[in-house]
Amino acid sequence: MSTRRNILKGAAAAGALGTFGAGYAETLKKLAKGKWSGEVPNAALTGNSLTPEYVIDPDTGDLAMNPDIAMSYTMCIGCTTMCGVRVKVDKAQNKVLRVTGNPYSPMSTDPFIPYEASVKDSFLAMAQTGKGDGLTNRSTACGRGNAVLQQVDNPRRVLKPLKRVGPRGSGKWQTISFEQLIEEVVEGGDLFGEGRVAGLREIRDLKTPIKNGAPELGPRANGLVVMNCVDDGRDNLLLRWLKQSYGSTNFTRHGSYCGGAYRSGSGAMFGDFKKMPHAKPDFLEAEFVMFVGTAPGNAGNPFKRVGNLIAKARSDGKLDYVVVDPVLNNAQNGPSGDRSRWVPIKPGTDGALAMAIIGWMFDHDRINHAYLAQPSAAAAEAAGEPSWTNATHLVIVEEGHPRYGRFLRGSDIGLAVEGDAYSDVDPFLIASEAGPVPVGAEAAPLFFDGVVATAKGPVAVKTSLTLLREAAASRTLMEYSEACGIPVETIEGLATELTSHGRKAAVNSHGGMMSGSGFYNAYALMMINTLIGNLNWKGGTMIAGGWFPDNKGPAYDLAKFPGMVTPKGLPIGRNVPYEKTSEFKAKKAAGQAYPADGPWYPNAPGLATEWISSMVNHYPYGAEALIFRNTNPIYGVPGISHVVDRLKDPKVVPLIISVDPFINESSAISDYIVPDSVMYETWGFTKPWGGVATKATTARWPVIEPKMEKNAEGQRVGLETFLIATAKRMDLPGFGDQAIPDADGTLHPLNRAEDWYLRGAANVAMIGKTPVPEATDEDLELSNVARIRADLEAVLKPEEWRRAATIYAKGGRYENIERSYQGDKATYAFGAPMLVWNEGLGSFRRATTGTRMPGSPTWFEAEFADGSKVADHYPAADWPVKVMSFKSPLQNSYSVGAKALLRIIASNPVVLGRALAEAHGIANGDMVRLTTPGGSLESVAVVRDGIAPDTVAIEHGYGHKGFGAQDIMIDDDIWPADPRLATGVLLNDMGMVDPTRANTGVWVDPVSGTAVRQGLPARIERI
Ligand code: SF4
Repeated sequence: MSTRRNILKGAAAAGALGTFGAGYAETLKKLAKGKWSGEVPNAALTGNSLTPEYVIDPDTGDLAMNPDIAMSYTMCIGCTTMCGVRVKVDKAQNKVLRVTGNPYSPMSTDPFIPYEASVKDSFLAMAQTGKGDGLTNRSTACGRGNAVLQQVDNPRRVLKPLKRVGPRGSGKWQTISFEQLIEEVVEGGDLFGEGRVAGLREIRDLKTPIKNGAPELGPRANGLVVMNCVDDGRDNLLLRWLKQSYGSTNFTRHGSYCGGAYRSGSGAMFGDFKKMPHAKPDFLEAEFVMFVGTAPGNAGNPFKRVGNLIAKARSDGKLDYVVVDPVLNNAQNGPSGDRSRWVPIKPGTDGALAMAIIGWMFDHDRINHAYLAQPSAAAAEAAGEPSWTNATHLVIVEEGHPRYGRFLRGSDIGLAVEGDAYSDVDPFLIASEAGPVPVGAEAAPLFFDGVVATAKGPVAVKTSLTLLREAAASRTLMEYSEACGIPVETIEGLATELTSHGRKAAVNSHGGMMSGSGFYNAYALMMINTLIGNLNWKGGTMIAGGWFPDNKGPAYDLAKFPGMVTPKGLPIGRNVPYEKTSEFKAKKAAGQAYPADGPWYPNAPGLATEWISSMVNHYPYGAEALIFRNTNPIYGVPGISHVVDRLKDPKVVPLIISVDPFINESSAISDYIVPDSVMYETWGFTKPWGGVATKATTARWPVIEPKMEKNAEGQRVGLETFLIATAKRMDLPGFGDQAIPDADGTLHPLNRAEDWYLRGAANVAMIGKTPVPEATDEDLELSNVARIRADLEAVLKPEEWRRAATIYAKGGRYENIERSYQGDKATYAFGAPMLVWNEGLGSFRRATTGTRMPGSPTWFEAEFADGSKVADHYPAADWPVKVMSFKSPLQNSYSVGAKALLRIIASNPVVLGRALAEAHGIANGDMVRLTTPGGSLESVAVVRDGIAPDTVAIEHGYGHKGFGAQDIMIDDDIWPADPRLATGVLLNDMGMVDPTRANTGVWVDPVSGTAVRQGLPARIERI
């Protein structure tokens, strides 16, 4: 089925070709400049390059700053890696000129310099004539990081509050004052001449149920829902406002349409579906890494650090690696030589490869017995293992047993338990000659398959590892090979390599898991690490080392406050058990509990993928007010275009507010836009997602004056001013003059952004045994933190402010690199068992089918919500091609406005291999039509090597309709569309809805609820 709005007409695609050329016009113009063209550059030797920020005397080592330039340590938010960087600021112009890395920050530097180094020494460390050799602590920003600073000066920024004129999404706006904005969104009224709209004050009803007859869904206040992108270090304030002050439970981020399938699959193994812990290979010490569905140094997180470490690791001769992916990317290229290999795989079939390797490991006895046999922390410690697993725990596999899929526990066999049955004190059981016995401090049998006596009669049980072995053995190596398209001998080679380096081999993955089988694919891949036994080992895999939190510390408690409320009720995204609902109870009472009216995802975090479906279908309930905070699900969720028109109807969600610096595809359909700060104008604290073994907090602060207009109180309008002003107007607890308790319980004000973030900085500075040193006047001057000195002194106590200033002078707080290891193990080890069998997964019932899912990794062929195979709906005979997306290190979903990037990659033609092209008579540069069951698009074809057979790949980040790609009218001014911003195509426009769902919803993975963009069934034709 093609929908009209999903078809990008040929004219648009032809326009893409035109803009491809136009994208280079500026470069060509610059090339034409110079002495040879009659224009004399500023300097004979260095041309028109920037003036140096400082000069170091080669004899004395003295540092002389350029008085016109400020050098500040802060954070880049050009992508979710959120690196610590150093920016060069033209003070007079209030403009960031250039970005490099922060040598204190592991996200930008390896090895990073000791935190004790003064700011002056950090400058010298990066200079050849200074204390460093100019290379050892070389600290970099990536290409995108240097380009996205253009977003600050983007002429399409929203700098004043906007209110829509005419229908939602019409592209017409009027500017309004901040004060009018606050009054209207809080008090409501007939705001658009379309009838009365309830304001935030009215919606904040903490008593009336949001849905009659379903008290478990919570109060009407849950009708305010907030969709966020990523925690850029400002979420704590937003969460305080939404949850603890307003009382709504509904907050979600973008993970379910980014890399959520990988994180959920990893979360299954790490035993936490909500926080979804994940480990990264120890790149510098590993000897072999298999990357699957991720492009090291190209995408993923932290891609810049990973790229840096891999380049080092392969050049010093230690690391060999293989990238398994349908698309050959930059990670395997000439410079990497024979240290890297590319193995093409059919999109979405990574689980078949993983299970083939797992099966081979069992068949060849290449699993780590000594590690897997340790059933508890005590046993692991006694055996010298830094982690343990539940491989030996007994699982109930008796069909029809009420605890089918759950672990056999002490209370099941009649052991006395001091506490509740099945609580933490009820022991897991292992096999022994005498029958099941509680796990102890010794190794346990890995395999058991039999019937054991329990207090309620005999029950069939197996160990977790037995179940995994059976799952792997359910298909032959040849069948797995046919499923994933990788030859048997290549699979055997990968398995051999992964099991030939002791603990120094690892598997890594990320966004490539976003397929209909993504959850189990990721769980299976990560399980290879557990069978190797590499967690917490040097050269194996490690979790992030943690951070110095801003929210709760010795100075201030930003997490709690007098009068705070606890949100109640089930979330709108249905990521909780269906069995908790009144719908389930009513259906059960009527004799048929399943299927539910829609899918539920108890083993998933918050799901943006499901939120819009929930809102437009009012299932489980609707929303009265939606806030998009710097996020763009309308661009990012594959297939969401099928429901977006319903969101444009104000009767469906009466009030939509965006807090965003730009008019993107999502803020374009809102009623109000609150301007926000960008990049180097903003505050925040973040931690690395992974790949850093030591504690690290990166701090961001306004190194330039923000551009948004000021409100009547003289504060720049943005997220913080919006939250504080609305809270104060509604008299919400936790804001105003008596809001933030210090260590003595004395309350301090929260009236400005500085009240929040500077107190957070004091916590970061003072937490732990030894607080950071006080910043000297020289530190303040060299880093230009002198710019915020008055605020630091006004907000913080005399004993706090200089320590907080150190956090900003050094761009955060970073534990020294020596803390990475203790001997041959990670200092910060993950301290819970690896789950070979996840009982939450193995015991739940799919709400839409009533059936169970496997509790261990398996090769799972994609299914729709009703349990039918996707391949049966869309057979290969009709849909012979698979479409997938990939990322370059330059463009992401929100960077298109940084036009420097479009000069490097001007557009995104669809990419296919030679055999597929020949089969369809397609030549390089031909126009092609690509069609999936969700829509079709027309674009230019690029035929190249390095694409898996029968696969078409589309780079992500193009095909915009927002950010200036279409005309915008504000008051009487037209912001004309820029065709360069509309260049290219978007795979998500061909994303699919699930045809088996009663209420419209996009196709998602049935366990993790994550979006499907890898492996869409498709056909291609030349036009
Ligand atoms: S990886 Fe690049 S774009 Fe991303 S935060 Fe770091 S410097 Fe910025």
